[in-house]
Amino acid sequence: MSQITLGILGGGQLGSMLSSAAKKLKIKTIIFCDDKNAPAQNFCDEFICAEYDNKERIYHFAKNVDFITYEFENIPFETLNELNKLKTVSPKPSVNRLIQHRLAEKDFINKLNIRTTRYVHIENKEHLLPLEDFLPGILKTTTMGYDGKGQYPIKSIKEIDLLNIDFNNEYILEKLVKLKKEISIIITRFGTNKYEIYEPIENKHKNQILRRSFIPAKINEKLFDQSREWATTIAEELRYIGTLCVEFFIDRNDNLYVNEIAPRVHNSGHLTINAYNISQFENHIRAVCSLEQIKLKKNSNAEMINIIGDQINYYRNNPKLDGNQYFFDYLKKEIKENRKMGHLTTLI
Ligand code: ADP
Ligand code: MG
Repeated sequence: MSQITLGILGGGQLGSMLSSAAKKLKIKTIIFCDDKNAPAQNFCDEFICAEYDNKERIYHFAKNVDFITYEFENIPFETLNELNKLKTVSPKPSVNRLIQHRLAEKDFINKLNIRTTRYVHIENKEHLLPLEDFLPGILKTTTMGYDGKGQYPIKSIKEIDLLNIDFNNEYILEKLVKLKKEISIIITRFGTNKYEIYEPIENKHKNQILRRSFIPAKINEKLFDQSREWATTIAEELRYIGTLCVEFFIDRNDNLYVNEIAPRVHNSGHLTINAYNISQFENHIRAVCSLEQIKLKKNSNAEMINIIGDQINYYRNNPKLDGNQYFFDYLKKEIKENRKMGHLTTLI
């Protein structure tokens, strides 16, 4: 069989790790990204730097690949849709459009009778004023948010004028859940009722940014089963192809809520590279390139920590690592506060 080439839109660390997994499967990768410093160019076979609405470059990209996927949500729907006319894009563009929009995403989840936080659509300041009942809460932009960007925690109505909220954007206001813990489920769907699903991962955040993930999650059996069941229902309803992550909240009474869906590989799943026979990245590639589905097997428990901002300097200076520790440098040139620069996985 001739060699498969996979096109990936987006050039961050997820693109890098997808490219590395593809290499293992002897699949060639072409990354398309609008950032000339995109770190994934260090890991892929070919790199195209252009705006996502550059029709000529997008067409050139499509011509040279067999399958197309993406590693972050905020790719214009039009681009994905145009590409999908030329080569198969997985997950399909309509799935991305739905999940890109926090309101549409939450409405979709609730229609499946799956619990989310309480939320309400906010289009202007006046909408906020009678909503004391949703406070304390978090105002979130409906589109383009990540790592807590575009979010305003609100404790009382009085605070609203102090927050300088840009009402040119649309928002949802979410009631704050009294969190006991957060978990995520990573699942790869290959087709109707064909899945590989990883065990729940427990996640610790600070300032809305993921710091640490580990397996096994310290949760009871009911939450273990329910989170897997909900993630499977979501993947099936979306007719999803590829790896998907569902983020969950667990409140102090052990109620489970879906927080959000990521239509892609996910930061909390980085530990699957070392802890399982097949990583979330390899599984994604297997699914979107129609390769064989292999039964998942966990080889070890694990913990992953994100290396953020200038913490990377320590790890780049040949630190002593134990034999069960694996350091990943995303090779980002510019160190910025709160920027994810690498991660460290420890098998336990
Ligand atoms: P992002 O798209 O930036 O990942 P999230 O909605 O997942 O946005 O929020 C990031 C983090 O902020 C969550 O993982 C959680 O720790 C905290 N958070 C967000 N919404 C709520 C909420 N309604 N109740 C409690 N914590 C929340
Ligand atoms: Mg999140």
